[in-house]
Amino acid sequence: YRAFSAAPATAAVEASSTLNPGRLRNVAVIAHVDHGKTTLMDRLLRQCGADIPHERAMDSISLERERGITIASKVTSVSWNENELNMVDTPGHADFGGEVERVVGMVEGAVLVVDAGEGPLAQTKFVLAKALKYGLRPLLLLNKVDRPSVSEERCNEVESLVFDLFANLGATEEQLDFPVLYASAKEGWASTTFTKDPPAEAKNMSQLLDAIVTHVPPPKANIDAPFQMLVSMMERDFYLGRILTGRIHSGIVRIGDKVHGLSNKDSGVVKIDDGKVVKLMKKKGTSMVPIDCAGAGDIISMAGLASPIIGNTVATAEIMSALPTIVLDPPTISMT
Ligand code: GDP
Repeated sequence: YRAFSAAPATAAVEASSTLNPGRLRNVAVIAHVDHGKTTLMDRLLRQCGADIPHERAMDSISLERERGITIASKVTSVSWNENELNMVDTPGHADFGGEVERVVGMVEGAVLVVDAGEGPLAQTKFVLAKALKYGLRPLLLLNKVDRPSVSEERCNEVESLVFDLFANLGATEEQLDFPVLYASAKEGWASTTFTKDPPAEAKNMSQLLDAIVTHVPPPKANIDAPFQMLVSMMERDFYLGRILTGRIHSGIVRIGDKVHGLSNKDSGVVKIDDGKVVKLMKKKGTSMVPIDCAGAGDIISMAGLASPIIGNTVATAEIMSALPTIVLDPPTISMT
């Protein structure tokens, strides 16, 4: 029985844990509304967060109060053994602002949460189509197996429905070879074998966390190259100003680094901003935790530049090339 590992207790440990891309896993969490995404994330964080030393938890909470950090990041990090898992919440609805693309463009894997009673529905399909197109490695989590109506037979049915859906959406052989987990997010557990009532020592999320580490490849990212990050989300904080969240494409970023914002225009790459990194953060458990530095492949939030927007690149001052903004074909999948 493995307990949930605590978030490292100091900022230095925190930062060094993310400087090895091989130790990172980035996953999107995808679900049709009401299939249990919020409950799943909640249970994961509550169990992991419970191990964060009390003073440390208070630290980040008081830091938030003190600085008035109000951002609600959609990216949550969980430390698991030697690894760090970044879990990104994916909107389930049809959005035309490209939010789904931005999320799937940041990650290598996807946890597809499907209500075992209901089976895959329209929003599952909509987001899944994009996830598969981006080459993400999926895991299927059949949720709500605690319900009396959900049998092993029903789970097998839903598994084959999902398999057919994958095949229809053009999944590769590798993507079709997805692992299946049976879960009750409500009761806080996930299992790789069918059960409705796991033994007490297995009533946790360990098997899900292990499956993510095993089946999702680490990001391919060059930590030795100059720092570049694609901005995928943007928020505003009263004290810190613009908070940019994105995936570090290459290199390492540290507090105090000189960086600039770059934009791809028809005329070429345009410098839109100049400044210094004043704060780096990751959401751990339920609070934003400050970090000293972060490396390629990681998904982080930063403050310091006032102008970049979603789709822009933040790069170290010697870099004048912007990363390609993610653009995918308009959805052709029917929502009915
Ligand atoms: P979301 O819309 O995907 O975020 O779904 P929620 O997490 O809000 O869950 C929707 C409803 O399903 C809530 O009433 C939950 O309590 C319930 N629910 C979620 N997970 C489970 C589960 O594993 N078992 C049961 N029985 N109910 C669940």
